[in-house]
Amino acid sequence: MTRDPTAFLKSEYEELVKQALDWRLRELQGPSSPRAIVDGKEVIMLCSNNYLGLSNHPKLKQAAIDAIKSHGVGSGSVRPIAGNMDLHEELERRLAKFKGAEASLVYQTGFAANAGLIPQLVGKGDLIISDELNHGSIIDGVRLTRAERAIFKHTDVPDLGRVLDEAKKHKPAYNRILIITDGVFSMDGDIAPLDQIVKMSNPHGAMIYVDDAHGEAVLGKGGRGIVSHFNLTHRDVHVEMGTFSKAFGVVGGHISGSEYLRKFAYNKSRTWLLSGSHPPPVAAACIAAIDILETEPKHVENLWKNREYFIKSMQDFGFNTGMSETPIIPVMIGESDDAQKFSVRLFEEGVFALPIVYPMVARGQARIRVIMNSALTMEDLNSAITAFEKVGKELNII
Ligand SMILES: *Cc1c(COP(=O)(O)O)cnc(C)c1O
Repeated sequence: MTRDPTAFLKSEYEELVKQALDWRLRELQGPSSPRAIVDGKEVIMLCSNNYLGLSNHPKLKQAAIDAIKSHGVGSGSVRPIAGNMDLHEELERRLAKFKGAEASLVYQTGFAANAGLIPQLVGKGDLIISDELNHGSIIDGVRLTRAERAIFKHTDVPDLGRVLDEAKKHKPAYNRILIITDGVFSMDGDIAPLDQIVKMSNPHGAMIYVDDAHGEAVLGKGGRGIVSHFNLTHRDVHVEMGTFSKAFGVVGGHISGSEYLRKFAYNKSRTWLLSGSHPPPVAAACIAAIDILETEPKHVENLWKNREYFIKSMQDFGFNTGMSETPIIPVMIGESDDAQKFSVRLFEEGVFALPIVYPMVARGQARIRVIMNSALTMEDLNSAITAFEKVGKELNII
């Protein structure tokens, strides 16, 4: 009998199960809303990236329906051939204006933006410098370059200086240097010191690329993101990358910067050139999300109010909320097993928040990651806090 060539699928999966590293998928039955139905149970949602509740906003839904009626459900092609619709162009003009940039370009996803653009910005003879905790999509983008790689310690600007000084001594001299960092780090909710990164890198003539997936529609003036948050411009930060899949409530990656960044990016990024463009309702819903951010400041304001209330209450109960500076709030637990148990017990108490455990974070640093939401009411927040207190005492965390 011949050997089954796919036998590894089962054995490797079983190994993951044995180490409790497998994903057990929960099912969201209905919209992503503050009180959502998950696996048949009504829960307070504390782990969605839908920070502002826009994924279920009536104006976005209507815009999507209208676009289906006027443009259909698909674009028919990649953008460079026959799939570049007026809606895609309009979205990019609106996004650039919102970001205060010369130009923007939309990719199918944020992952596709990082994987498609990073390997075009640097190559052989160049250097790419990353924060050690950058997102996996950046890591994959970096793996596709032929550039040399260096990392600096997490948010550590003097360490970045050390790497830049070493780079200066390199022979032959690097042609280009690209510094790349997350804006808001998704496991800890801390913010990259982008202003200091800009200052440190200026004398070295390095390009700066920030992935602001968790900062958009959260940080900055009216949710304009991390470049606005630090009062910087796109002459300081050359690529501001983001996603419509988080606070914007839809899906799609994007970059903002100079007109030549846009032209370069769409001519060179293989993920952009060789993959179908967004369905019309996606582009239309993203435009509606920008409309809402420009006209209804209450969503971002509420998000921060809720964040302050929640984190203060949790700290008053004695929980350690780590390095959080944003609506991402890690509730530190310690051991992976305890964090898993904590999450299961929270779910039983009607609160949906997931554990983040090794290897996503270091051993002994397991946590429950809370992602705050603007649409949660005081009553929702108080119920959630009460559940945390109850389970925290039960498991001797507080
Ligand atoms: C979510 C995320 C992405 C991926 O964005 P998608 O549009 O969902 O593909 C990229 N970078 C960071 C930092 C993220 O958090």
